Amino acid sequence: MNPKFYLQIPERLEVLKQNLQSCRLCPRNCGVNRLAGQTGYCGVDDQLYCFREMLYCGEEKELCPSHQVYFAGCNMRCEYCSVAEWNQNPLEINGMNMAQIADKIHRRAELGAVTLNLLGGEPAVNAAGILELLWKARPANRLVWNSNMYYNPIVDQAIRGLVDVVLADLKFGCRECAARIADAADYCEVVTDTIAQAAAWSDVIVRHRVLPDHFECCTRPGLEQIAKLGQRVKVSLWFDYIPPIPAKETPAGYVGAEQHQKTIQWAQRLQLRIIQ
Ligand code: SF4
Repeated sequence: MNPKFYLQIPERLEVLKQNLQSCRLCPRNCGVNRLAGQTGYCGVDDQLYCFREMLYCGEEKELCPSHQVYFAGCNMRCEYCSVAEWNQNPLEINGMNMAQIADKIHRRAELGAVTLNLLGGEPAVNAAGILELLWKARPANRLVWNSNMYYNPIVDQAIRGLVDVVLADLKFGCRECAARIADAADYCEVVTDTIAQAAAWSDVIVRHRVLPDHFECCTRPGLEQIAKLGQRVKVSLWFDYIPPIPAKETPAGYVGAEQHQKTIQWAQRLQLRIIQ
């Protein structure tokens, strides 16, 4: 975490807490009072529900070893989500309390974690709890905001400068797929803006997990949008999609060699800064 911004956490936290009284952290704009225990689309109140933490070496190489900390609650409904079961009833998760998570953060750093990786669910819907955690833990390693980027500018303002790397999950490239697969019709316009905002102050890695048979509708236009941001943004392409069972709106198969090759060629043609 960038220590220069550490002292700004209490003020930023106050702004987030005021917002939680009628929550508009993300484009769902639920307007519920999360401080009073109400929940909206993401299903979380004002507490953190950590369902998993671990040291992991499968992220982009420059982020590893990475201490992943998963917080329940998400504002999207991707049908192929690998942690969906944890996001269905976040309040029922009996996870670690804040002091225990802070302790884990220090222990994992001692074990060699070069990054603290905040993910979920979606960290944006947990932004207030996460800032409180950072204030308590004061982590010394680099901070990764591992997000679907589907949030309002208030979240960008809260994490600006504190976070070292924004790991932006670019899921879809068109309105139809975002609506059908993840119940987020406005996903593309929102995410294009939040990634551009993040690129103005942070290192940004855009991670695109390729969906089988979604080259023309998602990969091609999605990468074109990212190319407009120039070389400042790194791009990480993933071909490890696993179909859910049952697959209703999402592809039932895997990414084939032809689509794999076409994606790489398209990324090279756009002169994207590809990393692994
Ligand atoms: S963060 Fe949750 S409660 Fe707040 S607007 Fe988004 S989905 Fe609704």
